[in-house]
Amino acid sequence: MFDSLSDGLQSAFKSLSGKGKLTEGNMRDGLKIVEQSLLEADVSYSVVKDFMGHVSEKALGKRVLLSLRPQEELVRIVYDELVETLGPVDSALNLKADGPTIIMLCGLQGSGKTTTCGKLTKLLQEQNITPLLVAADLQRPAAIEQLKVIGSQLGVPVHAETDHKDPVKVCQAGVEMARRDGNRVVILDTAGRLAIDAELMAELKKIDRKVGPDQVYLVVDGMTGQDAVNSAGAFNDALELDGVVMTKLDGDARGGALLSVKQVTGVPIKFMGTGEHFDALEPFRPEGMASRILQ
Ligand code: GDP
Repeated sequence: MFDSLSDGLQSAFKSLSGKGKLTEGNMRDGLKIVEQSLLEADVSYSVVKDFMGHVSEKALGKRVLLSLRPQEELVRIVYDELVETLGPVDSALNLKADGPTIIMLCGLQGSGKTTTCGKLTKLLQEQNITPLLVAADLQRPAAIEQLKVIGSQLGVPVHAETDHKDPVKVCQAGVEMARRDGNRVVILDTAGRLAIDAELMAELKKIDRKVGPDQVYLVVDGMTGQDAVNSAGAFNDALELDGVVMTKLDGDARGGALLSVKQVTGVPIKFMGTGEHFDALEPFRPEGMASRILQ
């Protein structure tokens, strides 16, 4: 994996250094190539600047410049820094021993929240746990229908109140139902918007305060690139996030958005969505992602 990631960068470095050895001068050029590569991977500009600050400090140290293979050292430094920034590995759902664990999914419309409800359900079913799903996106009747379909496909209960206007009440009723029926997990599928707005944030904050989810996960579309950093920042300011689920990583995107979102939120990336099917959810692994970002 490390070898394949270094191929592209190696050849760029070789062309810089002629005989294959870097001087401090062209090490700086090498750093520029890394910076460019991260920007092309859709890591946001401010995050790249920050990241390159750490990398440069290490790469311009004497040990690297005097080493036999400085180019490889540079790639190794970038890779290690990426793995460290993207980590730690933590895909635990942290289920409580008593009472239902409430998992709240939030994110922009179209990010993959409702699909992720299905994927988490499948994951829990593999552990013999039947979650109860709550349709708390009252903005779009289609979203309620979509969740009901997912519930019936997977054979799990869905709490939905089509005529209700207050998502807090819907969530509370869902949690009550789970308590009564003995479901160990409740998943709240909240509303999204195409862009961040104050009303949406106020609604989510109210659910957070009054329903008290145990885990709040931000669902981010991995294809969105630069925009991801702004929306993640806004959700992070409004809610105390516990983790991120990055979806649509089955596409061509190199996944730089992950680095931006991780930097902005500081919470673990829990899972990656790698397709539309319910089994297309993988625990997040920083090593694989670091290679992909640096392709
Ligand atoms: P929501 O508005 O946040 O609830 O988003 P949806 O769950 O309705 O997903 C929006 C679209 O993205 C749907 O067409 C999903 O099938 C698709 N989608 C969700 N997750 C993934 C994923 O990991 N990979 C791919 N390729 N498509 C996904």
